Amino acid sequence: MRDTFQIFAAYLLTLSLCVTSLCGPAQASEGEIEKPPAASNGSASGSWNPPRPSASSERIDERKAMVDRQIAYPLYGRDPVTDAKVLEAMATVPRHVFVPPDRRATAYSDSPLPIGHGQTISQPYIVAYMTELLALEPGDKVLEVGTGSGYQAAVLAQLTSEVYTIEIIEPLAERAAATLAAQGYESIKTKRADGYFGWKEHAPFDAIIVTAAAGHVPPPLWSQLRPGGRMAIPVGGTYEVQRLLMLAKTKEGERESRSVMAVRFVPLTRE
Ligand code: SAH
Repeated sequence: MRDTFQIFAAYLLTLSLCVTSLCGPAQASEGEIEKPPAASNGSASGSWNPPRPSASSERIDERKAMVDRQIAYPLYGRDPVTDAKVLEAMATVPRHVFVPPDRRATAYSDSPLPIGHGQTISQPYIVAYMTELLALEPGDKVLEVGTGSGYQAAVLAQLTSEVYTIEIIEPLAERAAATLAAQGYESIKTKRADGYFGWKEHAPFDAIIVTAAAGHVPPPLWSQLRPGGRMAIPVGGTYEVQRLLMLAKTKEGERESRSVMAVRFVPLTRE
């Protein structure tokens, strides 16, 4: 009887150790540490309708499962994304048309995917999480650095009509522009350039999102952020643990910086 009790006690101990430490998220790169702000996106302006991308009627169930299991109600190790408009955007944008044809079958899996030229489309959770951090309101002007496939830009375009995105690799910039046009995202402005310098003609921006890891916050991007604006940017070297930073520019132009989680992004390259 006593032996049985000891075996049972040891079993319970093992189970609790496993739950608290050993069986945590497999990818240490995502979803740990501090909580994101509770982004509220309850805009009062009801006049703007989000776009309806042409392929949004395809693979609806897979997108719903992606949103539920990976983003809104993740099992463990991740802070759920709660902003209803961000969840709606993730459920609407047809991620499968943004990935290369040979990757379409796994377009809704819980992972980044290669998009050619050594680049990747981010994991759906990271796209949703960073979008939530920006707390976009319809009409906000947002700049993305690192268009890649165009997927993140499309998600942004579900939240505001003013989206600008820059990609340094010509063939990726061209392909993303074509994909976005084919899906009916006419409002998104794309360009091929070194995004380190931002897009001066359209500055200032209410929000800036950088989807490649920079060694430091590019001063031109900081200066193109409007007072009161927000920037999400991964900072750190390619082989280091990078930190996703959430920066806010106060009305007085001061910088407030918060490190929100450890991430792994491809590097921000320079011309
Ligand atoms: N947001 C993308 C994925 C980003 S991958 C998506 O939704 O698919 C990072 C991208 O940043 C790559 O396409 C890379 O070529 C691009 N990039 C890297 N350095 C850049 C720079 N200086 N300016 C613009 N784009 C850059």
